[in-house]
Amino acid sequence: MSENCNQNRNSCSEECAERQESRIDFSETLHDKSCVKKVIGVVSGKGGVGKSLVTSMLAVTMNRLGYHTAILDADVTGPSIPKAFGIKERALISEEGIIPVKSKTGIQMMSVNLLLEDDTDPVVWRGPILANTVKQFWKDVIWNNVDIMFIDMPPGTGDVPLTVFQSIAVDGLIIVTSPQELVSMIVTKAVKMAEMMNIPIIGLVENMSYFRCPDNGKDYQIFGESHIEEVAGQHQLPVLARIPIDPKISTACDRGMMEMLEGNWLDSTAGKIEEMEGTRK
Ligand code: ADP
Repeated sequence: MSENCNQNRNSCSEECAERQESRIDFSETLHDKSCVKKVIGVVSGKGGVGKSLVTSMLAVTMNRLGYHTAILDADVTGPSIPKAFGIKERALISEEGIIPVKSKTGIQMMSVNLLLEDDTDPVVWRGPILANTVKQFWKDVIWNNVDIMFIDMPPGTGDVPLTVFQSIAVDGLIIVTSPQELVSMIVTKAVKMAEMMNIPIIGLVENMSYFRCPDNGKDYQIFGESHIEEVAGQHQLPVLARIPIDPKISTACDRGMMEMLEGNWLDSTAGKIEEMEGTRK
């Protein structure tokens, strides 16, 4: 280590061995027939908070706005994207590469469930194989002219999401939380991971935020008081959306009808994505 090194990789400009080592590039290149202009990762602290739901709704929203959209389902042990879109067919594997499946409205998607013979088969692979599968979804799939790809990340900030971030050039992150969680800790961990990977955070989405009673129109905070604004403020991040608990959301998910779901909860998130540099149709 150089004697002038201040031991902070972000602020020190000394060229010591440690610094050079940190620049080892693990990134994977896309298939030479693929074109993906923008990649947005959707992360959460744990499973079941609605990360796949937010990923699917964002893809549908951007697709409705006229962007060619894709979803890479990196949640290999809990893949739920094909089911949310009612997809039963399997991806085609050709000599050239893997052809993603297209949803009814034309969203391209790849998920381990599109490769398994029976989508109820459990995926009981170890970490490195999980991470390699995601890498293959990036480099061996022929993504056709994609304006925006959403990655449904594995939950948490462990080994698999880290490898995914090192392998795939992600342009921005959206953090999904719910009021039941230790939001402050989860957001802080995600922010630290994003800083390590040098990926900008687009903002926070709070799911299952409240329930609007159809009888009296009042909002009830079923899972307790929300702390999202406070936590967002601590990290200078915007709260992009607050999605209610709504039976029409779970029904759309369970029946594979995400593309029929109406609701403007993610309109301002879509606006933020459109404002990102280089987002174009
Ligand atoms: P994750 O990807 O974080 O594991 P999912 O998006 O798969 O979570 O959501 C878990 C379950 O909760 C799904 O069955 C989904 O339909 C349901 N769900 C998620 N968000 C809502 C919501 N806002 N209202 C109703 N049901 C929801």
